[in-house]
Amino acid sequence: MSFESLGLAPALLRALSEAGYEKPTPIQAAAIPVVLAGHDLMAAAQTGTGKTAAFSLPLLHKLASQPLREGRRPINALILTPTRELAAQVQENLRDYGKHLRISSTVIFGGVGMGNQLHALRRGVDIVVATPGRLIDHMQQRSVDLSKVDVLVLDEADRMLDMGFLPALKRIIAAVPAKRQTLLFSATFAPEIKALAQQFMRDPREVSTTPANTVATTITHRVHPVDAANKRDLLLHLLAQDSRRQTLVFSRTKHGADKLVRFLEVSGVRAAAIHGNKSQNARTRALSDFKSGRITVLVATDIAARGIDIDQLPVVINFDLPMVAEDYVHRIGRTGRAGSQGQAISLVSHEESGLLRDIRRLLKTDLEMVDIAGYEPSSPLRLDAGAPRPKQQQRQPREGGGGGGNRQGGNGGGRQGSGTGSRQGGGASGNAQGGRPAHRAHGHATPAGAEGAGSRNGGNRRRKRRGGPAATPNKA
Ligand code: AMP
Repeated sequence: MSFESLGLAPALLRALSEAGYEKPTPIQAAAIPVVLAGHDLMAAAQTGTGKTAAFSLPLLHKLASQPLREGRRPINALILTPTRELAAQVQENLRDYGKHLRISSTVIFGGVGMGNQLHALRRGVDIVVATPGRLIDHMQQRSVDLSKVDVLVLDEADRMLDMGFLPALKRIIAAVPAKRQTLLFSATFAPEIKALAQQFMRDPREVSTTPANTVATTITHRVHPVDAANKRDLLLHLLAQDSRRQTLVFSRTKHGADKLVRFLEVSGVRAAAIHGNKSQNARTRALSDFKSGRITVLVATDIAARGIDIDQLPVVINFDLPMVAEDYVHRIGRTGRAGSQGQAISLVSHEESGLLRDIRRLLKTDLEMVDIAGYEPSSPLRLDAGAPRPKQQQRQPREGGGGGGNRQGGNGGGRQGSGTGSRQGGGASGNAQGGRPAHRAHGHATPAGAEGAGSRNGGNRRRKRRGGPAATPNKA
C-alpha cells in the first residue's frame, strides 16, 4: 500500500515525501479511503499510530478538490482535541501536510489572549483546531461561525469525555450542521464513546488497527522496584547512563513535577516541567527546548503530555505510576512511535503495587522487573489482590484542557493562529540501547491471572547507595 494508491492529491504526496513518510501506517491505510468516500468514521487508534495524518490527509485532499473561494472563507472543518498541546500539534501537522496547498488553518485554545484568535477567525479560515472550552467562549461571543462546517473531527474523544467535556461537545455539535461528516478517533471504544457515536454520527464505519488498550509492540517495558524515597536518586542514576538522551519523565502531580525538576537541575541535569499550572508560554518553551535538545529531560503530568509529539523518543520513564492504568498506555505512546523502538521504564515503590497490578491486567503483557543494585526496595512489590495503592485515590483535578468546560488555566501569550513554529527541532538523538546499567532481570510480572509474580526480596534489606552499576538478581 502506498500513499499514491490512496489517490491523494499530488501536492499532499509531495509534502509526505518531504516529511519522510514512505507508506501509510495501518490506521491511515484503513481510514483514509473511508473518509475520502464520505463516510462517518469511528477509528480506534492510540497516539503514535499516525492517527493525525489519518484524518488530516483526506480532509486536506477534500478541501483541495473544492474550487477556491475568494474573500472571507467559512470554516469548513472543525477538529476538536482535549488539550492545547494536541491542538497545536494537530495544526502543525496540518501545516506540514498542506504546505503545498492554499488551505488555511488556525488553532484555538485557552490560556492565551483572544486577540490573535479573533483576528484569524475574522479573516476566515478553512480549518479550525480547537479545545472545547475556548471554542465555547468564542461561540458565546459570536466570534466563530460554525454553520458551514462540513467535517467534524473528534480527536481523542475518550479523553475529552474523561475530562468532562461532554456538555461542551454537545453544545458545539448542536452548532454545526446536522448534514456533515463526523470522524471520531479514540484509543478505546468504551460504552460512552459508542453512545456518543450513536447520538451524533450517521452509520459510521469502524476501523481498528490496534486492539483497545494495547501498546505498540516495539516498546519494551521494564519495572524497577525501588523505595519511594530513593526514586530521585535512581532516576539520576538511570539518566546518567546516557546523559545526552532525551527522556520524558512522568510525574503524577504538578507539584511533584516541579520538585523533581528542581532536584534534577541542582544535580546538573537540564530539565523543565510541563503541566497545567504553567503558563502557555512556559509550556511552549519547555517543549521547544526539549525538541531542540536544550534540555534533555522533560517532566510532564499526564494531561500536559497529551499531544506531545517528538520523533523517536527512545525512552519514557514513569517516575510515579499513574492512578489510572489507561494513562500508562497514553504515557508510553510517546515512545516506540510509528514503528521505532522504545523503552518504557517505571520506578515502582511498594505503595504503588496496586497500580502496577492494574496496569498488568490492562495490558495483558509481560512487564519485566529488574532490580538495580544499590536501589533494591526495602519492601517488595505486592501483586496480589490486596496490593497497596497510594493514598491519593482520586485522579488529580484535570488540568490543561479545562476539566468540564471553560477552564483553560494558565496565562500569557503562546503560539497562535498560523504562526510558523518549527517542527521537531533537533530532538531525540539518543540511543535507546546506550550504556544501560548492568542488571539482571528477575522474571516478568505476568498478566492478569498469574498473580504474585512480583519480587519477594523484601525484608528490611538496606541498600548500599550508589553501589555502582552492578545489579543484583532478584530473588523472585
Ligand atoms: P500521531 O499518532 O498522529 O501522533 O503520529 C505519530 C508520529 O508518527 C508523528 O511523529 C507522525 O509525524 C509520524 N507519522 C505519521 N504517519 C506516518 C507515516 N506514514 N510514516 C512515518 N511517520 C508517520
